Order: sequence, then structure tokens, then C-alpha cells
Amino acid sequence: MIPSKGYAAQSAEKDLAPWSFERRNMGPHDVEIAIQYCGVCHSDLHQIKNEWFPGIFPMVPGHEIVGNIIRIGNHVKKFKNGDLAGVGCMVDSCRTCENCQEGLEQYCLKGNIGTYNSKGKDGLPTYGGYSNNIVVHEDFALHISDKLSLSAVAPLLCAGITTFSPLRHWKVGKGHKLAVLGLGGLGHMAVKFGVSFGAEVTVLSTSPDKEKAAKALGAHHFIVTKDAEQMKAAKGSFNFILDTVSAKHDLPLYLSLLKTNGVHICVGAPTEPHTIPAFALLGGRKSVAGSGIGGIPETQEMLDYCAAHNIVSDIELIDIKDITASYERMINGDVRYRFVIDMGTL
Ligand code: NAP
Ligand code: ZN
Ligand code: ZN
Repeated sequence: MIPSKGYAAQSAEKDLAPWSFERRNMGPHDVEIAIQYCGVCHSDLHQIKNEWFPGIFPMVPGHEIVGNIIRIGNHVKKFKNGDLAGVGCMVDSCRTCENCQEGLEQYCLKGNIGTYNSKGKDGLPTYGGYSNNIVVHEDFALHISDKLSLSAVAPLLCAGITTFSPLRHWKVGKGHKLAVLGLGGLGHMAVKFGVSFGAEVTVLSTSPDKEKAAKALGAHHFIVTKDAEQMKAAKGSFNFILDTVSAKHDLPLYLSLLKTNGVHICVGAPTEPHTIPAFALLGGRKSVAGSGIGGIPETQEMLDYCAAHNIVSDIELIDIKDITASYERMINGDVRYRFVIDMGTL
């Protein structure tokens, strides 16, 4: 086994704390990555607090991983030692179902294997990127360009692909009015991609103080969702709403902002179910849809797109010992827009 150290939650009631553990031995197609940076996703917090489902503890979160390859298995073709590499939310899947065959491993019919809070094909728990290393099959590691700031690339592995994928699927671009609901880690990437794809982008936010920053990200308009007048004026105006909100919110209120045939795309994953009256949908033939991360081929496409268009995340680099305080700040919306752990501080 390969020794590893990181930060783990020993149970849903405990804060993250230093923990030593072991990674599996290298298989012929495995690579070992020395992790340099790992982004902090709101999903990490949902999971260590058991907000979605009972988790597997001890839990080492982290699925926005970047670093260097330091060891390769005998049959590895995709990487060589020293290469930059990234790992996102998945480390394996069945590889044979129709979705896996189409490169939609995130929708594997047998369930993809999560980077953490999951069990590998060997039956052992997987541990994420709040750690010094990871062993992963080469097929689930991504190439990272050396043109971009590595710490600012880390969040692309989840926040990036989770917003890139639905915008591509629904072909959002020129001539479309896109609203991004919630300006956090996912939301700020949705603004960058929406603008880059040519859409007219409006941020819908509970935080009036984010307006200037939203415009600096490229957003064309900004609406404070608590302001009834601004909301009334925006009724029936968007083709798409990309909903990145992490907490309970009033979906029918936002559905009223869609044009006829408009689509409300949920990527945020609040704990409580949404309540949607039929009338909020049938007046205007509206749809509510969802989208989960992105497959491996599309994640590589997104990373290459970002390298070509100079797109990265706006980050605040943190020391791993400040992780619990950073979660508090994330809950309070006090981050512009993604915390990234400098793994050198481990
Ligand atoms: P985040 O950085 O905390 O951003 C969430 C944003 O939602 C906040 O910045 C805030 O924006 C808004 N918000 C928070 N509470 C709200 C409330 N009560 N009502 C209205 N708006 C509220 O979180 P994130 O990392 O971007 O993740 C967002 C959600 O996406 C999480 O639930 C996460 O688990 C989920 N997620 C899903 C996928 C997927 O595959 N679909 C992948 C990754 C993450 P304003 O201040 O602008 O209002
Ligand atoms: Zn995530
Ligand atoms: Zn599959």
C-alpha cells in the first residue's frame, strides 16, 4: 500500500483534522499524482455533514485536484513522470454501459465511482484530494496545460465542468439570454463560460454587494433577487436559468423569469426537494432539467477550451489548517469565488 496523509472528518459531527491513511498499490494502468492544489466545493461540505446521504467515514474530501505525475504503472500510455494532471469528481465507472461508452461516465448505469465517499472496484473506500497524493487509473486523470496558473485551474475539475457541460448540452450561446442563479464557485464559472459562448448573461443573486464583481467577471446585468421591483421587471426574459444555489430556494419564483419554452437547469444540489406547481410549468411550456458534472472526454475538452481562451477560476488560496473556517465563510457567501487549498501547507 502507498502511505498518504491528509485531512479527514472522522464522523459527520467532527471537524476535519490531520489523518494518515493508505492508498492502493499501483496497478499497471494507474498513475500516482503528487497533489499541489485542491479546490473546496460546496459538495465537500454537503458530504462531510451527511446532508445528501449517510457518508463513508473517515472521509477525506476534495475533487478538484491538480498536481504532478510522480509514478506510472507499466502499461500507462497517457502520461509520463513529471506531467501535470488533474482528477475531478470520479475515479472510475463500469466502462461498459451505454452511457460509459458514450463518454458520459458521470451517468454510468451502475453508478460511477466517486473520488471520495465512494467504494472502488476493490471494495475499499476512496479518499479525495485534501491529501498529498492520489492513485488513479490513467483513464480518469486529465491533462492540464502549463499555460495557466495551476492553483486557479483546480476548480475547473468540478465547478468548471459542471457549468460547461449543461451550457454545451443546451447549446447556450449567441442570441440567448442566460441567467446564472447564485454567484459562488459554480456560478462565477457559469458567467465566464456563458459570456465566452456569446450569451447575454444576467446574474441573479441574493448579495447586492456582488454586483461590481459580477460585472468584472463579464456579466452584462445583475439582479438582486430580494428586490421585488427588479424581479418583476425581469419576468419572462430568459431562455435559460442555470441554477447553482446550494440551499433551499423558491423555484416557481425563478420559473416566472423564463421566456416561453425556457429551461431552468438545476446544478445546485440543496438537501430539500423542490416544490413545483404544474401551473409554473404549463403556462409558457417551461422545463426544469438537471445536469451532473461531465464525462471524461468533455472534461478534457473543457480544460483545453480554458487553456485556449485563458479561462481560470477566481480563487483564494488557503492553508489547510484553515479549512473549517473557510467552510464557514463559504456558507456566509464570503469567498470570491473559490477556496483552493495549497497542499504545500499540509
Ligand atoms: P457556493 O460557492 O457556496 O455557491 C452557492 C451560491 O448560492 C452562493 O454563493 C449564493 O450566491 C447562493 N445561495 C446560497 N444560499 C442561498 C439561498 N438560501 N438562496 C438563494 N441563493 C443562495 O457553492 P458551489 O460550490 O458553487 O456549489 C453550489 C451547489 O452546486 C452545491 O449544492 C453543490 O453541492 C452543487 N454541485 C453540483 C454539482 C453537479 O454535478 N450538479 C457539482 C458541483 C457542485 P449569491 O450570494 O449570489 O446569492
Ligand atoms: Zn464539486
Ligand atoms: Zn457505466
